[in-house]
Amino acid sequence: MTRYNKWIEIDLDALKNNLQQVRACLEDRVRLIAVIKNNAYGHGALESAHILYQNGVDFFAVSYLEEALELKQSGFKGRIMLLAPLWNEGEYTEAIKNNITLTIASLKDWEKACHLSARLHMLTAVHLKIETGLGRFGFSREEVLKLLKEPYDREYIYIEGIYTHMAQAHNENYTQKQFSLFEHICIELEEAGLRIPVKHCANSTVFIKYPHLHLDAVRIGTLLTGQYPAGKLPHFLELQDPYKYKCRIISLKNLKKGSKLGYNSTYKIKSDARIAVIPVGYCDGLALEVGNPPSGFADMLKLLGKIVFRYLNIPRFNFNVKIRGQYFPVQGKVFMQMALVEIPKKVFVQVGDEVELPIKKTLTAKNELRLYTSENEAGKKSHGAGVTYLTEGE
Ligand SMILES: *Cc1c(COP(=O)(O)O)cnc(C)c1O
Repeated sequence: MTRYNKWIEIDLDALKNNLQQVRACLEDRVRLIAVIKNNAYGHGALESAHILYQNGVDFFAVSYLEEALELKQSGFKGRIMLLAPLWNEGEYTEAIKNNITLTIASLKDWEKACHLSARLHMLTAVHLKIETGLGRFGFSREEVLKLLKEPYDREYIYIEGIYTHMAQAHNENYTQKQFSLFEHICIELEEAGLRIPVKHCANSTVFIKYPHLHLDAVRIGTLLTGQYPAGKLPHFLELQDPYKYKCRIISLKNLKKGSKLGYNSTYKIKSDARIAVIPVGYCDGLALEVGNPPSGFADMLKLLGKIVFRYLNIPRFNFNVKIRGQYFPVQGKVFMQMALVEIPKKVFVQVGDEVELPIKKTLTAKNELRLYTSENEAGKKSHGAGVTYLTEGE
């Protein structure tokens, strides 16, 4: 019996290929930190982590403690670092006991980490996070210099790394400004006697655009998933798609021309058709888009344009799914856990048929969705769009 009506398939060779493509651009001394936050961007953190580990990646990053613990509990042996700070003592205790590498973003974090690792007699590796212009979290220059003067017992703390995160990697001036501040702080710390071995500031976009900012380590997520970060970047990596999101048709019925589909009956079918129900809905991200404010007037026009094209039911802007090698549109409003696919009456499909969902896209900081094009069997370009993730792209 098949237990699942939806699942993700991972192509090992494609994931390995992406890893090799990234590695080939790194000097030997630069470490790769594989970012597998949010379930490896929605594709399966445990599986992806194990595959990458078997292929030599030994350092991983996730955002939150529960993600790290899930990996540890699965028997995962790789180093895991948290990208977000922890917020209470219980979390620190759990993280320290499990040998998880911490992000320290404030003096308060520092105090807790020192105190609790000493109490537990557990050596804890930490990376200091410096805030240079993203406005998220991290030490300011003044605050991090105070760290040198704090009397806390840091016998059980190993300050392994120091890092920052770029806010708009496409903007060279802004990136350079952020980096200069970061570099300046590193130098000041060094002059004060604190030498931190691993400095890092590159995510996927920075990795591609600024090879001189690879420093001692790079934090790569998007590229490993086979996607290019959105925006104009030189495409010199040959990435492959390791992930396919699939489900099965769970119900099928014939409907006459003129029948209405879904809540509010927003779609009327134009000729007799077969309507397939798939067990994937907006709870899975289908048809969801992140509702960030547009980044500017042009961006707003683009968003409006997309809505208008969807309204006009222009095929390129439909959410298309692939069944038996052909693409068919999702029609009507997407339900919480289901959606309806319109299939021409003459096409043969069955309940239980595999359905491939379009998940290939990158969210940009500008909230623009990059449509992924793939060749369908007729050799025509067919645009898939539809499943998006509720995470930031970077
Ligand atoms: C998500 C994240 C990354 C990885 O970014 P990609 O652009 O997906 O490679 C790196 N660093 C931090 C701090 C992140 O939050």
